[in-house]
Amino acid sequence: MTIVRGTVVTMNPRREIINDGAVVISGDTIAAVGSFAEIRTAHPDETVSGQAGDLVLPGYVNGHQHLTGDRLIQSSIPDDLPPGEAIFSWVVPVHGEHSGDDDELAATLTLAEALSNGITTIFEAGTVAHPDRVVAAAQSVGARVTVGTWGWDVDEGPYAGTVDEVIDRQRSALDLQGGPLVSTWVSLVGHDLMSDELVVAASELARSRGVGMTFHLSPTSSDVDSYLARTGKRPLVHLSALGVLGPHVAVAHGVHIDTQEVAVLVDSGAAVVSCPWAYLRLGQGLTREFRHLDLWREGGRLALGCDAENAGDMVDGIRTAALFAGVAKDAAVDPTVFGAHDALELLTIAGAEALGMAEQIGSLEVGKQADIVVHDRSRIEWVPPSPDPVLQLIWGSDGRSVRDVYVAGEPVVTDGRVRTVDVDALAAEARRAGRSLRTRSGVEAVSRWPIR
Ligand SMILES: [Zn+2]
Repeated sequence: MTIVRGTVVTMNPRREIINDGAVVISGDTIAAVGSFAEIRTAHPDETVSGQAGDLVLPGYVNGHQHLTGDRLIQSSIPDDLPPGEAIFSWVVPVHGEHSGDDDELAATLTLAEALSNGITTIFEAGTVAHPDRVVAAAQSVGARVTVGTWGWDVDEGPYAGTVDEVIDRQRSALDLQGGPLVSTWVSLVGHDLMSDELVVAASELARSRGVGMTFHLSPTSSDVDSYLARTGKRPLVHLSALGVLGPHVAVAHGVHIDTQEVAVLVDSGAAVVSCPWAYLRLGQGLTREFRHLDLWREGGRLALGCDAENAGDMVDGIRTAALFAGVAKDAAVDPTVFGAHDALELLTIAGAEALGMAEQIGSLEVGKQADIVVHDRSRIEWVPPSPDPVLQLIWGSDGRSVRDVYVAGEPVVTDGRVRTVDVDALAAEARRAGRSLRTRSGVEAVSRWPIR
């Protein structure tokens, strides 16, 4: 057993915060939550980690993260490209050139960064080439990860195929075994890069296997235009008519949706994963079409994501939650509608609920998995501490103050260092792999300003 001490933000149904509290880890689960004094009396001989001033929270949930493709060329794709070019001229060819080693290395680095910023659960957006190697990375890093493989039945593109071929590939990905922390789901590219036949078959596969399903949709208005032209309906209205949507579905983005599509999402129970930094980095219109707030107000299911290292770049849930809260207030021109506490819910318990994992994670409650984040409040940004630690967490801090992280009771970050992989030892390999990928895929990454 280990006792983790600090101010405990439980995220339990009453949203209790316990000053000088503690969480007891037993094996992979939470055995007790309470005041440190009570817990110390009950467990006088157990090891205590941390101190009264620390801030202890449930691990953060990242609902949409590319673990491959962008990482080895992170922050290399220019931020002034026309719409779509970052994906089709850069990300797709880079994905197409990934070796198995590249996929595993990229996923290892992204997951290590996620853990170091307190993100313990990551829903992968889909590995194009070697999902088995991403599973291997998840196992070695010790994060809780849901892995998928990209499926698309377009004419040309890496690993594209017929409906039957794509479904076979999805089936093989669902069969991957990665131990208790790794699960799999159905993941299509989405957009207008999936036929009706494919998306229907994929949704049936997910339902029959009892797993989730994700795809990209409507980060810009271009999916709206193409669905209207092809089907006469807006994308989510069309997918609803096909019977695709349900509580098993997580739609990545859903930025350009209308009132009817919000209703379709709420009625079907399908979730949306909002990745606000990506929309801003790519200039996709979030500040004009902030329907995610409408979805939230209507009781829809919503989670946050960090997307990709050339679309939001940093894998930091606190930073993402703060941006979402700020955009919500600003888009509504009303500071009262949404705030730090709502944003922290999306990053923890509400995000876990949206993605079907609230039974296991998302709050610090007895019987749940011991996924725990500890922020060091001796750092300058926390001095002096606010009486409302959630306000300060979201508006005044970020992942830099994460000191210790546990996943299923295992310490994976201690004193700010990832324990499970030697990140320093991977640095040289990451530089070499990034250079090689750029050359093989023919993408030219240069500095806009001259470097002497
Ligand atoms: Zn994505």
